[in-house]
Amino acid sequence: MVHTEAHGDLRLAVRELCRRFPASYWRELDQQRAYPEAFVQAMTEAGYLGALIPKEYGGLGMSLVEASIILEEINGSGGVAGPYHAQVYTMGTLLRHGSEAQKQAYLPKIARGELRLQAFGVTEPEAGTDTTSITTTAVREGNRYIVNGRKIFISRVQHSDLMILLARTTPLEQVKKKSQGLSVFLVDLREAVGNGLTVKPIRVIMNNNTNELHFNQVAVPVENLIGAEGEGFRYILDGMNAERILIAAECIGDGRWFIERATQRGKQAHIHVEAANLMRLRAAERFDRGEPGGAEANMAKLLAADASWEAANVAIQTYGGYGLAADYDIERKFRETRLYQVAPISTNLILSYVAEHVLGLPRSF
Ligand SMILES: Cc1cc2nc3c(=O)[nH]c(=O)nc-3n(C[C@H](O)[C@H](O)[C@H](O)COP(=O)(O)OP(=O)(O)OC[C@H]3O[C@@H](n4cnc5c(N)ncnc54)[C@H](O)[C@@H]3O)c2cc1C
Repeated sequence: MVHTEAHGDLRLAVRELCRRFPASYWRELDQQRAYPEAFVQAMTEAGYLGALIPKEYGGLGMSLVEASIILEEINGSGGVAGPYHAQVYTMGTLLRHGSEAQKQAYLPKIARGELRLQAFGVTEPEAGTDTTSITTTAVREGNRYIVNGRKIFISRVQHSDLMILLARTTPLEQVKKKSQGLSVFLVDLREAVGNGLTVKPIRVIMNNNTNELHFNQVAVPVENLIGAEGEGFRYILDGMNAERILIAAECIGDGRWFIERATQRGKQAHIHVEAANLMRLRAAERFDRGEPGGAEANMAKLLAADASWEAANVAIQTYGGYGLAADYDIERKFRETRLYQVAPISTNLILSYVAEHVLGLPRSF
C-alpha cells in the first residue's frame, strides 16, 4: 500500500516548481481566460509532461501513482492541473496501443516538449456520456481517412499540436454491438485546422479553453490510425480509467487546499478528503499493476470530487463575503472544482456504474 507520505522527494520537487506560480499567476490567467504557457513550459523542462513516457523514449517512466501525485500537488498549491492531466492521460492511448513506428515518431518529441498532445476529441452534442452513439465518421479512401462530424467541449485545441480523435469507421447498422466499429486516430492539428477543421471557443465557468469542432472532409493519413480499426472504444475506455484516477488526485489536491484555507470549519471535509485519497491510491496501484480497476477508478473519482466540492463549500462559507471576492482565490477554485461533479463523467452515472457492475443490480438505462 502506498501512503501519502511516500514519494516525498517528488512532492517536494513539484511543490518547489509550483511556488514559482503563485495564486496571482492563476488569478490573472483566470480573468483573461488564458492558457498557462509559462507553467506548461516549466513542467515540460522538469520532464513532468512526459511523466508516463517510458525512459527509452525520453520520458520519466513514472507509474500512474506518481503521475497522480504530481497533479495532486499542482492543485494543492492553488494551481490548475488541466493541461498536465490532459497530456498524461491522453498519452495512454498512444503508449498502450500505438505502433512502434508511432511511438518512435511522437514520444521523444512529446517528452522534449517539441510536440504537445493535450487534446482529446470524444464528446459530441448528441452523445455525451453515451460515447458509443457518436456520429462523427472516418471513411477510408485510399491511404487516408476522411472525417466528417461535430465534437463539443474539446479542450486545449489551440494549444496542442496533436489530438486523439474517436470516430465511427463502421456504420452502426453493420456492427453487432454499438461499442464495435469505433476507431482512434492521432490528428495533426497543425494540418487539420483550416483544412476542413474549424474550431469555435466555448466560454465555461472556469478557465478551460474548451471548444466546439466541425470536421468537414478532414483528411487523416492511414498511418495515424492507432491500433486496430474498429477497436477504438476499448482503447478509449482504458484511458478513461486513468483519467478518473488522475482527476481524483486533482480533487484531493483541491480538497486539501480548501481545508488549509478554512481549517477551523473544514474538519468534516478533511475526513472525507483523506478517505477519498485512500481509494484514489488503491485505484492507481491496481492500474499500475495492470489489474482491472474500473470500480476503484470510478469510486475514487466520485469520492474525491464530492469531498473537494464539500471542502469548497466549507471554505466559501468560512470566508463569508471574502470567499466570493476574486482576490482570495476561493471563488476561482470553487468554480474549478465544480467541473468534476459533471466531467469527465457525472457523479450519478458513477452510481449507475457501481450499481450495475459492482452490486449486480439491473441496468438502469
Ligand atoms: C469544461 C469542460 C471540458 C471538457 N473537455 C473535454 C475534452 O477535452 N474532450 C472531450 O471529449 N470531452 C470534454 N468534455 C465533455 C465532458 O466529458 C462531458 O461534458 C461529460 O462526459 C458529460 O457529457 P454531457 O455534457 O453530454 O452530458 P450528458 O451525457 O448529456 O449528461 C447530462 C446529465 O444527464 C445524466 N445522464 C446521462 N445519461 C444518463 C443515463 N443513461 N442515466 C441517468 N442519467 C444520465 C448525466 O449524469 C448528467 O447529469 C468537457 C466538458 C467540460 C464542461
